[in-house]
Order: sequence, then C-alpha cells, then structure tokens
Amino acid sequence: MTEQLSTDVLICGAGAAGLTLAIDLARRGVSFRLVEKMNEPFRGSRGKGIQPRTQEIFKDLGILDRIVAAGGDYPKERLYRGDGSYVDSRITEHVDPTPSEPFQQPLMVPQFLTEAVLRERLAEFGYSPEYGTELIGLEQEGDGVTASLQRRGVTEHLRARWLVGADGGRSFVRHALQVGFPGKTLGVRAIVADVTLTGLSRDAWHRFGDGDMSRQIFLCPLAGTDMFQIQGPIPMEGDIDLSAAGLGQLVAERTGRDDIHIHDVSWASAYTMNARLADQYRVGQVLLIGDAAHIHPPTGGQGLNTSVQDAYNLGWKIAAVIDGAPEVLLHSYEEERRPIAAEMLGLATRLLHAQHRDGIRRGREVKQLDIAYSGSSLTLEVPARTGELFAGDRAPDALLLGASGQPRYLFDLLQGPHWTLIGYQVAHRDSVPPRKGLHIHTMGTRGDVIDEHGHFREAYDVEEGSWVLIRPDGYIGAIVEEASTELLEDYLTRAGLPATSAKH
Ligand SMILES: Cc1cc2nc3c(=O)[nH]c(=O)nc-3n(C[C@H](O)[C@H](O)[C@H](O)COP(=O)(O)OP(=O)(O)OC[C@H]3O[C@@H](n4cnc5c(N)ncnc54)[C@H](O)[C@@H]3O)c2cc1C
Repeated sequence: MTEQLSTDVLICGAGAAGLTLAIDLARRGVSFRLVEKMNEPFRGSRGKGIQPRTQEIFKDLGILDRIVAAGGDYPKERLYRGDGSYVDSRITEHVDPTPSEPFQQPLMVPQFLTEAVLRERLAEFGYSPEYGTELIGLEQEGDGVTASLQRRGVTEHLRARWLVGADGGRSFVRHALQVGFPGKTLGVRAIVADVTLTGLSRDAWHRFGDGDMSRQIFLCPLAGTDMFQIQGPIPMEGDIDLSAAGLGQLVAERTGRDDIHIHDVSWASAYTMNARLADQYRVGQVLLIGDAAHIHPPTGGQGLNTSVQDAYNLGWKIAAVIDGAPEVLLHSYEEERRPIAAEMLGLATRLLHAQHRDGIRRGREVKQLDIAYSGSSLTLEVPARTGELFAGDRAPDALLLGASGQPRYLFDLLQGPHWTLIGYQVAHRDSVPPRKGLHIHTMGTRGDVIDEHGHFREAYDVEEGSWVLIRPDGYIGAIVEEASTELLEDYLTRAGLPATSAKH
C-alpha cells in the first residue's frame, strides 16, 4: 500500500548529524521528518570526543550542561614500556578558559550518550526519529523530491521540498545521486569495542605496544559508563574474534599481561580507515551532511564534530530558504563546509601517522575554534579589515554587563535561532530597523549592554561606530562602519531578513 504525504524537509539518518539538524529545524518551526533504518538507537561509543567548538554549539542548542553531565574529562595517557613500567602524560595541553573562548578542553562523551541527549532535546520539541524506516528510493522532480520509505514491508511515498542525506559513510543518498566519493583507504584496519573489564584503573587511557604498530592497543575508560573502549590496529585481512574471549586474548597478547579480564562486550566493530570527501554536497533539492559527505580516520576526534557542524551550518539556511530567502543562500553551505572537511581529512590523516610515533597527544588544531568561513559569499567588511578578526570568523564570547547591572555573556545574547546585530558606540541605534529574526543590541551611551571589562573591544577589535552582524550559527557575517549601514540592509535581505513591513 502506498500513500503520498508531504513535508518541507526529509532527514535520512538519525545519527549525530541528522539529530542536530532535526533540533535546529524544530526550534525554527520547520516541518520535517527524521527517518532511521535501524530499529533502535545505535549503541556504540565510537565518536567520543566533543571538541570546544561543538561545546559552544551544544550550548546554543540548550544541551551543553546535559552533555557534560553525561560524560566527563579526558584522562591522562599512560604509556607502558616493554618492562611493564609506565609514564603518564596529558593528552591535551591544559589551557584555562578565556573570556573569548570559554571552552578549552575536549569532553569525553560516548557517542550513544551524546545521541541520547540530542534525542531528549528533540523530544522537547515534540519530535522523535522514526526508527525502522529506510529510505529506499528518491526521485527529483521540479522543486522537490519524492522519497520512497519502507517500514515493516510497507512502502510510503513522501514528497519533500528538501531531502538531507545524513545517512553515514555508506550513504544511500550519495549513491543515489551518483556523487563521487574520492579519497583513499589508509591501509589501516582497526577494532573498536566497548567492554567491561577488570585489571586496569580508570584514571588513565592505557596504551601498550609503543613504537610497534602491529602490537599497539589502547584501553580507554569511557566516561559516563563503567566500560572501557578498546582500540587497536589489526591485520588488513582475516576474521577477527570480537567476543569477550577473543578480545581478551588480543589484549593479553598485546599487553603481555594475564590480569586484564574482559567480562562483557556491549558493542564491537572491525573497520578499515578511509579518508574520503564527496565531490558535491548538493544536487538539486538534495544535500549531504556528516559522514555521508566526508569520512575521516578517528584520530583527533573530528568526525562527529564536523558532522554536527555541517548540520548547524545548514539548518538556518534551509529554514531561511523555506521561509522565502533567496535560494542562492544555500550555495554557501557547500562553499563553506566542503573546504573545512577537506582540511579535517588532512588533519586526521596526519594525526593518524603521528600517533604511530608520538601517541595520542593533541593540540589547538583539533579544537575547531579556528574554523572560519573567510572568503565566503556571506562575508561583508566595510572598510576591509586588517588585524586579527575578520568577517567569516567564529564570533568570540565576551563577558558584558546588562544595562540593568546583571552580568551578560555575549553567547547568551546569541543563544537561539536568531541573527544578532551589535552596534559598538554607534550614534543612531535606529539606523538599522528592527525585523523578524534579528536581535539588535548596542554598547555605549544608552546602550542595553556595557562592555564593562573591555572584553568585546579586545576580542572584536572594532572602531567606535561599527556594526557587527553575527549569524545564527555564531560566525561573523559582517563588520560595517556606521556610514555604510545601508550595505547591511542589502546583506540582511539576501540572508532572508528583509525589513519587516507593518502589520495591522
Ligand atoms: C572508532 C571510531 C572512533 C571515532 N572517534 C571519534 C571522535 O572521537 N570524535 C569524533 O568527532 N568522531 C569520531 N568518530 C567518527 C564519528 O563516529 C562519525 O563521524 C559520526 O558518527 C558521523 O555522524 P553521522 O550522523 O554523519 O553518521 P552516522 O553516525 O553514521 O549516522 C548515520 C545514520 O543513518 C542511518 N541510515 C543509513 N542509511 C539509511 C537509510 N537508507 N535510511 C534511513 N537511515 C539510514 C544509519 O543507520 C545511521 O544511524 C569515530 C568513528 C570511529 C569508527
């Protein structure tokens, strides 16, 4: 039996990318469906590192505290020598939070817990993934897509204005679009397994087999659980026994110890590492996000973070276009996100090779705080800027004071699906008329926020009489001097925020 229903957006895949997009669309009131072919949520730990930039995004989505509570900090690395002695070191260098970068350390949250928090947030908007529902066909016609969804042997035909493939590395959507996925297999096969074990302390990420790739094994206590995650390279060919007994034997061989006992395996997988990037992120009314668009080796903990950030970049744009913004706005999704993924592929691959030499230490480059969309068609600077901060950069945080005397973090002003326009010492607050979807704040005489500590001035490095426009995804869209305010008007119209016409 078939039925023709319709929605604005069909999201295929309820992993981290699909769930993030669903939350962003739900909070914007966009109609969508989120389908997932598995019958129940994925229960593996694989993407366990939540980087500082993703923490900022989770704060905006209203889940950061829940994510922190679900997981924990990364422990130190404990590297065992051949004689059984060991040396401890930090995985990440400790950096104190600053007013402009409040989150500095990665969090460890097993992926199934991150996804559980995302589902909880989605449920607060009245949505949940449709499990056991597989996308088995798609056809683009006119201004939409007809998708064939199969659930318990019944096929439903759904008409959607947009289809977003968030369906992972083997993406059905990418294949159906015949989008190329060039790259390489990295010649490394590995296991990942979530187990309960005895014989190791939970205060360190234990690493054995230094220097000899074929003998390496990592055992990491999984924050928020009583399990350990085992990771290690395995031969490119051959069956691997992923039972408790099989993993116990592998651990004994690689550690040379007989006191580590595996009791239970909650989830395990053997996989070959790849670095691949889709040739296109959009074909007509269909877009790709997350692992469907790029796959990385797990080193550096970038994959899930990049996937969440694809969704966060796309969410406001697709919602704006559905609400009447020029469709050209969506070109900026691939324009901005594909180069970021290309960069991440290089980084994760470099870290994979370095890990064989230097262990699992990670620097600032993995935090994703320096991701910028400079050169994007959505950047505007008048006059062109010199110095440290440019249109397209991540909008830094700042501790301000509300006019009522209460501390106000800039990130609190940004939180939500709106754009934010900040006038720094501008003469006329009303030179940019208010409109739906834009929050305007000013600093200076009669301003509603005060740069009490100079954090804003320092982080944004703006002259008196400047307007700073911050996008819904926390990047700087425009920095414009007061004399050129009319250019902002044009920018806002292109971004789908025309001046509000009076309603009676
Ligand atoms: C060992 C390992 C360690 C990792 N460590 C990290 C880390 O520390 N940090 C990090 O950021 N990343 C890490 N990653 C990567 C991370 O797990 C992925 O990047 C992330 O899961 C991508 O999310 P996604 O939502 O794009 O895809 P997925 O999580 O793969 O979700 C795709 C979903 O789509 C569903 N689906 C597929 N086809 C269909 C269909 N036809 N119809 C309906 N549903 C469909 C699938 O069932 C699946 O649930 C690691 C990966 C591995 C393997």
